[in-house]
Amino acid sequence: MNVDRITEKLNILADAAKYDVSCASSGSKRKNENKGLGNASNGICHSYTEDGRCVSLLKILLTNHCIFDCAYCVSRKNNDIQRAAFTVQEVVDLTINFYRRNYIEGLFLSSGIFKDADYTMERLVRIAKKLRTEHKFNGYIHLKSIPGASDELMNEAGLYADRLSVNLEMPTEAGLKLLAPDKNQADMIKPMGYIRNAIIQRTEEKKLFKKAPIFAPAGQSTQVIIGATPENDNEVLHSANYFYKNFNLRRVYYSGYVPVLADSRLPALNTSVPMVRENRLYQADWLMRFYGFKVNEIVNDSQPNLDLDIDPKLSWAIRNMQAFPVNINKADLQMILRVPGIGLLSAQKIVKARMFGKLNWDQLKKMGVALNRAKYFVTCNSNEFERRDLTGSNIKQFILATSQSKYLKNTQVQLSLF
Ligand code: SF4
Repeated sequence: MNVDRITEKLNILADAAKYDVSCASSGSKRKNENKGLGNASNGICHSYTEDGRCVSLLKILLTNHCIFDCAYCVSRKNNDIQRAAFTVQEVVDLTINFYRRNYIEGLFLSSGIFKDADYTMERLVRIAKKLRTEHKFNGYIHLKSIPGASDELMNEAGLYADRLSVNLEMPTEAGLKLLAPDKNQADMIKPMGYIRNAIIQRTEEKKLFKKAPIFAPAGQSTQVIIGATPENDNEVLHSANYFYKNFNLRRVYYSGYVPVLADSRLPALNTSVPMVRENRLYQADWLMRFYGFKVNEIVNDSQPNLDLDIDPKLSWAIRNMQAFPVNINKADLQMILRVPGIGLLSAQKIVKARMFGKLNWDQLKKMGVALNRAKYFVTCNSNEFERRDLTGSNIKQFILATSQSKYLKNTQVQLSLF
């Protein structure tokens, strides 16, 4: 093996992969059987950068050669950059060597399109297959599906990968047409539909036959780029909601557009990466998936964008003051979850603990409630903080004055993973 050449390829192809943020490894329970290598159920440690990006996987492209010319992508065919491509065996060897040295817990593999979708996808699948069958590798594998790849290849990919993902790239079809004219949304939706159906089918088979093969046990995810096209948060979150509902996605990743290319269709090169917006979208996404919020409650035609100053739950609360105060000792779990400053775990603890007596501020604080926000929206067995003469906008000003948003400091900085 020519170490210098491999190192050079690694530098190029890891750098090219850093713009893809959809790499969290949660949700897989692959066991180490037959004295194989690795164990995705215990071996994965989730390590996130401040803006929520996962850093524990070997994250590379198979190649940054590409036949397409997507305006937002550093690997686009008309961009004058250094190109490289790994062989199948090189990626397998790198993964095994890095895993043995404890540098990584798994592999996140994407690729530019070599020749056509199947030609590229076949190589990605071959890497996953070799790792699983020849090296008995039980670490986490996330494969990016190449839009337009055949059902046969998608089927094979699902047998070896923990997670599959197809990037939607732009929140709407119009945005995609504008910046990626070689692509069309139908080519992305087709493999997403295939993965959804295969997961449902294999789950049913598994109930009947214990030895039925698993298919992409960590499910599927997608990524959308934010800020490259003019869609507002209403359009972004409605699109995400549609794909969650119709394709059983585990995650939608929102990636703030990093301006690296000059193109009249794109924001100017000196435009800041929308890191705060990206973070607010993740918070809104969390509210939709775990807190029982409907997308229309968070964004709608009269409130098309998320408030960048405050989180979306607080924003909802100050627009709906008639729903408060919530009596923490009586309200149901769904309403407690809507209180700013009370997270999922704290809400569950509250409901359990109040069976043994009425809760006061001290107890709420011990359960992890952020009193600096919650105190404006709840009543409990103590009236220490009670002030009911404040409007929503007063509360927003008080909270902003007393809290320092860590994200505001980072608006100019794109974090680098490597
Ligand atoms: S197909 Fe993928 S790798 Fe190729 S230019 Fe478009 S986004 Fe980049």
